[in-house]
Amino acid sequence: MTAARRHALVTGGGSGIGRAVATGLAEAGWQVTILGRNEERLAAVAREHDGMLALGCDVGDEAAVTAAVEQAIGRNGPVDLLVNGAGIVETAPFAKSPDALWDRLWRTNVMGAVHASRAVLPAMRALPAARIVNIASTASLKGYAYVSAYTATKHALLGMTRALALELAGTAITVNAICPGYADTDIVHDAVANIVARTGRSETEAMATFTGANPQGRLIDPAEILGTVLWLASDAARSVTGQAIVVAGGEIM
Ligand code: NDP
Repeated sequence: MTAARRHALVTGGGSGIGRAVATGLAEAGWQVTILGRNEERLAAVAREHDGMLALGCDVGDEAAVTAAVEQAIGRNGPVDLLVNGAGIVETAPFAKSPDALWDRLWRTNVMGAVHASRAVLPAMRALPAARIVNIASTASLKGYAYVSAYTATKHALLGMTRALALELAGTAITVNAICPGYADTDIVHDAVANIVARTGRSETEAMATFTGANPQGRLIDPAEILGTVLWLASDAARSVTGQAIVVAGGEIM
């Protein structure tokens, strides 16, 4: 797929990985729509890029997603590339993870991608080529302590990716998951601040918990995820579907 007048819709496009993907796609010539709850933050991102459309929307709310996608399609045409980047993390021991926490993570991390995919698919099916890219995690492929609900939702997102890819294999739509390791975004910086507050460890020590998980000894740059999205969106990747593409410095081989 070339960027000429193609429409990319990025959930969670107001910050972190979603923002890097959305802005990189806009710079590559895509018509970009971003979705998220924090409308002020989304509008600030959109202001930096001519023609970028920012729509406030909770991806856990199917009616809101359907309305936002309809508005986006009305303005920019059918969605050629959907990037499901919206996601949340809550850290807690298993015994202190009540149903409400599981429900919150499930609704955003899994149903958010389900709602957005369901909303774009009818118009997407008529396109000569289209892509769905789910921002999953290394936690889609292995467990981590104290994030049982997050890990379960990310495994579920990968399961949905694999099943939908097969269901759509007879169409021109591919469905893939990108599985980043710890990345340089608010999610990790908030977790570092939490560790410092709870344990009194220094910020450097707390950060080492995350960089140490990556054999390359660093956080993943969100721009690296953009690069993977651009490749998945290209014609060269038309046979790549149902895959978990790990971007984690060798954490998972
Ligand atoms: P951010 O917190 O910066 O991004 C998450 C985005 O999701 C925010 O822009 C947020 O916007 C949006 N979001 C959260 N809940 C909702 C909701 N209910 N409806 C709409 N939008 C929502 O963190 P990252 O960029 O790191 O996270 C992006 C994705 O990458 C997530 O799925 C995360 O799980 C995944 N990931 C991150 C890793 C990391 O180490 N950072 C590693 C592996 C995967 P708003 O608050 O405005 O709604």
